[in-house]
Amino acid sequence: MVKVKKTSITAIIIKNTIGIIIFFGIIFLLSGYFQEDKKDDKNINLTELVNDINAEKITSIKNTNEKIDIVYKDGTEKTSKKETQSSLTETLSNLGVDKVKLALTSVEIKEDKSVGNIFVNILPFLFPLLLLIVVIWFFSRGIKGAGGQAFSFGSSRAKLMGSDGQKQKITFADVAGVKEAKNELEEVVDFLKNPKKFANIGARIPRGILLMGAPGTGKTLLARAVAGEAGVSFFSISGSEFVELFVGVGASRVRDMFKVARASQPSIIFIDEIDAVGRVRGVGMGGGNDEREQTLNQILVEMDGFEPSDSVIIMAATNRPDVLDPALLRPGRFDRRVNVELPDRKDRLEILKIHAKNKPLEKDVRLETVSERTPGFSGADLHSIMNEAAILAARENKKQISQHDLIRSIEKVMLGPIRQTHALSKKEKEVTAYHEGGHALVASILQYADPVHKVSIISRGRAAGYTLKLPNEEKKMQSKLEFLDDIAVSLGGYVVEKTIFGDLTTGSSNDLQVASALARDMVTKYGMSDAVGPIALEPAGGRAMFGNNVESKNYSEKTNEFIDNEVSKIMNEAYERVIDIINTNRECLDAISKTLVEKETLEQGEYEDIIRGFGIKVEKE
Ligand code: ADP
Ligand code: MG
Ligand code: ZN
Repeated sequence: MVKVKKTSITAIIIKNTIGIIIFFGIIFLLSGYFQEDKKDDKNINLTELVNDINAEKITSIKNTNEKIDIVYKDGTEKTSKKETQSSLTETLSNLGVDKVKLALTSVEIKEDKSVGNIFVNILPFLFPLLLLIVVIWFFSRGIKGAGGQAFSFGSSRAKLMGSDGQKQKITFADVAGVKEAKNELEEVVDFLKNPKKFANIGARIPRGILLMGAPGTGKTLLARAVAGEAGVSFFSISGSEFVELFVGVGASRVRDMFKVARASQPSIIFIDEIDAVGRVRGVGMGGGNDEREQTLNQILVEMDGFEPSDSVIIMAATNRPDVLDPALLRPGRFDRRVNVELPDRKDRLEILKIHAKNKPLEKDVRLETVSERTPGFSGADLHSIMNEAAILAARENKKQISQHDLIRSIEKVMLGPIRQTHALSKKEKEVTAYHEGGHALVASILQYADPVHKVSIISRGRAAGYTLKLPNEEKKMQSKLEFLDDIAVSLGGYVVEKTIFGDLTTGSSNDLQVASALARDMVTKYGMSDAVGPIALEPAGGRAMFGNNVESKNYSEKTNEFIDNEVSKIMNEAYERVIDIINTNRECLDAISKTLVEKETLEQGEYEDIIRGFGIKVEKE
């Protein structure tokens, strides 16, 4: 990575300071040479000169600037010096020269514009200037060291990743899955390699390409891969960098970046996390954030300013396409939108293989198992699973990564690290065991809930314990019955605490939040409540305001009340179902909890053995 352009004062000063210092150093020496006094006995002072004139000892005086050459009647030559500014005769008469005697000597006055003397004259002015430059240089270096960029604020901070400037070239081979996105982008690569082919046939290639997808799905990676494949200059800047320092800087950075990119076509400009600048304008206090709007406007202006023949492609990435300003999405701007999806099971395996490349794996490692157990994980999650597994193995001084390391790291990535310091008391252990047992039991009994893979009362992240449930296969859609079962499973822990211990802990707060949010979505988004009917009351995403998302409510207070009633109806029905399950399977729950307190963690097999013993079917259709 190379910084492309630094038209900053700092850069100029730093570049030239050494030159300036050497330059002035030479002048200094030279002028010193011209200046050098010939220190010998021939040198007399002005009073002696006046005395000698008055004594009629002198034939001629020659004056060049401040230097005085004197020739005596006896043939000896001497020198003297006077002030540069004052005239010789004036100086001499001030010292009391006899005017008549002076008239008898020949006086020649000559002005010498020799190089040395000019420098001597201008040096007093240049020296402070030089000093000033040096001071500014140190000052700006200090600022840079402190992390600021005060002197380069106007220039683009886009980073160039040229085909050779980059150490490791990223290509499409480094990106697994996301087939549709890759197909779309291959067209772009083709265009960048071969703009003539498209121009000749009159095809207009999309100027702006917007990559949309959940965080960690590989949007940034894809953009870099396009540059790597096409072998063109790649200018990358993050939306948040535009709004960093001073007001008015964002717009000039945009201008600068586009200028540089145009000059080095064919090229790609990549604006990562464009939602930081590209949010809908005109909302928020006082008409919105001026700085952000100006930056956005400048982007729009620059995008409109391209000639059809320009081969500059602008890519942008966001995980919030819903908040983007519609003007960005107009034809001629980011009109080509590419969805970057979360990977499915096959893609996850491919991604794992890519990230396993430089990691020695034991022979019996089955990455397939890892990909089966990680539905909903993004590429970035899978990357960190491989990395965590390598760290775990290295910590235990192993040469190779084992399957066990991989499985452990899935849980670490999913739930956070084990909290070893957090030892539960005997009572807490029992409550946690029943709570988790409740989730697991309800999940096993309900037909549409996901099967249980693991139950544990080891604290991880913020949870006291956890129950891992995984779908048998990838689901693209969820049904109402599945939602209802999911809500019941979430309530499992809460209901158990309440009915068995007659008390509640704070451990259920997250469960309740998840369950209520789900119930609310069923009513307001999916039309799954009979009483409300087929209306979507909530927009897909919120609106941006003060940097937060405020859900805009486009329904009345009365409807609001109605929704609340529907949500609590769903929750209460789920509550009743769970009570029912617990009452009829109390012995099974006791058994699960007892084993959990003993073993702390139950793997799928151990857990299924217990519930089978109570006649609960493990397989679901
Ligand atoms: P995004 O920009 O979408 O948030 P990134 O492109 O920054 O995600 O991805 C983060 C990291 O996750 C990448 O550097 C890469 O290691 C890994 N990754 C994500 N998606 C993929 C993929 N499809 N194939 C391979 N690696 C991926
Ligand atoms: Mg990114
Ligand atoms: Zn819980």
